[in-house]
Amino acid sequence: MSAPLLASVLFPMPVPEPFDYEIPDTLSVDQGSIVYAPLGARMVCGVVWKVFRAQEKDQERTLKPIANVVDTPPLPVSCLEFVDFVARYCCHRQGVVLRMVLSSPEALKPSPVQTLYAPATTLPEKMTPAREKVLQVVQNGFFSITELARRAQVSPGVITALAKAGGLIAKTQPVDRPFAPPNPERTGLNLTASQRTAASDLISLTRQDSFAPALLDGVTGSGKTEVYFDAIADVLLRDPSAQVLVLLPEIALTQDVLARFERRFGAPPAEWHSERTNMQRRRVWREVTNGRARIVVGARSALFLPFANLRLIVVDEEHDSSYKQEDGVLYHARDMAVARAKFAEAAIILASATPSLESMLNARSGRYAHVRLQARPGAAVLPPISTIDMREHPPATGNWLSPPLIEAIEETLQQKEQCLLFLNRRGYAPLTICRHCGERMKAPDSSTYLVEHRYNGRLVCHLTGYSMPKPKACPACGTPDSLHPVGPGVERLQEEVATRFPDASIEIFSSDSTKNAEEVRALIARMEQGKIDILIGTQMAAKGHNFPGLTLVGVVDADMGLHGADMRAGERTYQTLMQVAGRAGRASRPGRALLQTHQPDHEAILALCSGDRETFISAELSLREDMGFPPFGRLAALVFSAPTEPEAQRAARDFVAMAPLVQGVDIWGPTEPPLSRVRGRWRQRLLLRAERQIDLSAMINAWRSRVNLPRNIRLKVDIDPYSFL
Ligand code: ADP
Repeated sequence: MSAPLLASVLFPMPVPEPFDYEIPDTLSVDQGSIVYAPLGARMVCGVVWKVFRAQEKDQERTLKPIANVVDTPPLPVSCLEFVDFVARYCCHRQGVVLRMVLSSPEALKPSPVQTLYAPATTLPEKMTPAREKVLQVVQNGFFSITELARRAQVSPGVITALAKAGGLIAKTQPVDRPFAPPNPERTGLNLTASQRTAASDLISLTRQDSFAPALLDGVTGSGKTEVYFDAIADVLLRDPSAQVLVLLPEIALTQDVLARFERRFGAPPAEWHSERTNMQRRRVWREVTNGRARIVVGARSALFLPFANLRLIVVDEEHDSSYKQEDGVLYHARDMAVARAKFAEAAIILASATPSLESMLNARSGRYAHVRLQARPGAAVLPPISTIDMREHPPATGNWLSPPLIEAIEETLQQKEQCLLFLNRRGYAPLTICRHCGERMKAPDSSTYLVEHRYNGRLVCHLTGYSMPKPKACPACGTPDSLHPVGPGVERLQEEVATRFPDASIEIFSSDSTKNAEEVRALIARMEQGKIDILIGTQMAAKGHNFPGLTLVGVVDADMGLHGADMRAGERTYQTLMQVAGRAGRASRPGRALLQTHQPDHEAILALCSGDRETFISAELSLREDMGFPPFGRLAALVFSAPTEPEAQRAARDFVAMAPLVQGVDIWGPTEPPLSRVRGRWRQRLLLRAERQIDLSAMINAWRSRVNLPRNIRLKVDIDPYSFL
């Protein structure tokens, strides 16, 4: 008799590794099978990580049997490998990463069924006016009882009675319907010669049928989306089971792109992001697993969907810093997408008008194919960017718009064209100060300033979401009406613009003014249709959108991102401002962008105005190289937090005392970060810098396993941090 088969099962909970179980003869279990197995007193759902024959040593263990297997296809091996990789690279527990794959518990149950009704060939003996109404609306197709009752304006009882009397036939089917398949044979726009070359370069990469990364580097509005559509069409056409994942950084962008997919492929893609309901997630998850969802457009978490046959990943706006997940498992979706493509042996296209230095270096060194689009198609041209020196053209006291920008807005409105004023600050004012005693309004449990939001009369912490009504008197000195807003947010700018341009229609585009995808869609539509004269936008308005009537982009504070000691400050400012400027002149009318700045000589600002991106990138890269920073070296931040400051300091110091000696790794700190307190917990930070060839994650994993952290200490490991707060 051969030794029994055993399975290692990983549970989607904070466990570091899988547990072993026996596989009963009655069950068919494979690697990747989703199973229920006893864990303590409970039956818990997990994933079979490995199936193996019991060895002699295993015979001594009494293992519990797996209870049953969930009726879904096993997770593909490439998906399991990806979980292992993310856990190891991001220094997180395997089970927590698996939880991101099984993020839709509903999905493990089959879709509920529903009854649908259609007219029968015979009429019931007894007819009533209500029954007649039902039979009138049910003429074409099958309807659910709720839909039919709504359309015929009758009670559901009328429908069940009519069916019983033989006037309707009923059928049952799962609530979740398969997605309409995209049609890759539909033709897209007539591509320009350079777009055609770019598309065929991408297509030849995807045809390698192995890991093949490309940077699609094209100026704003050059048709990158149209070009990667061609690559997607080719992938779908060649392999009838191929699946494609398109990642987008902002759900605001998703709306426009979804509509474009539908126009191009004749069917909307499957959509995956945090705003989807549990039912929608179940449908997407199951259709992805069984291979029928062929195009998925989603946010970073879509990387963890268990694709049956993932052949191509597109990461649009690959430079976008919101790809970095800053909660839970801290990962960068662009970097993890590259790993995902590797495990799936798939192609990956990173698209951007302002590629990250990381991707630029990979393209320059030949690790990624570099596919370029240098111009906009047809009559559209890139907008010239120029500065307004705020030292020479200061705004009137208490205002934020300089005279040259006001003049440009006037001209634009006279031409019946649209303006976008970019200010990446939500709310009314970023700081509230007591005019009497100088008190600055801070969050009670975090070291952050509260931001006034006038539309709801509250002071809000943008880090934690804490908010309070704006007090009538200063809480420190008690002086009534002394709290004074300092600096502009979009709401305050709107006040100024409305006073200056009373006849213009003005709207704000920020996460506060648009509460959900529906409102975002409506606002984008109003802007596209020219119903808005001046749009005041935060970063939500900055990227991706095509507003044909928009010809003036005014950046209210171009210097905002340049403050602080963040190594990416220059790069990020360049990217954001280039993207926002790129909203202008996307159709036949030429556009322009004006940057209000106090530092017109800053390298990032100079590069924006001269259009000399390559020199700027080379300078930034050599700076990083000198410092040994990414992409030349590696960085990791270790953030300790504790209920009190001394506990946090002690934990960080004790941790450093246990540091392994590794050549080529610098340990900086511990220090108190700018955000020294968040949600009542005190923080301390260590920064590690390592040479590129060092496996920093492995070193941190080994280091951590040597140290027993006290129970009240939390340690967050951030590999390649983007936030230094
Ligand atoms: P990007 O992704 O590079 O910003 P898009 O693909 O969004 O560029 O294209 C910008 C605009 O130009 C879109 O409205 C798109 O439909 C249009 N466009 C792109 N290529 C062509 C083309 N060959 N012919 C006509 N319109 C085009």
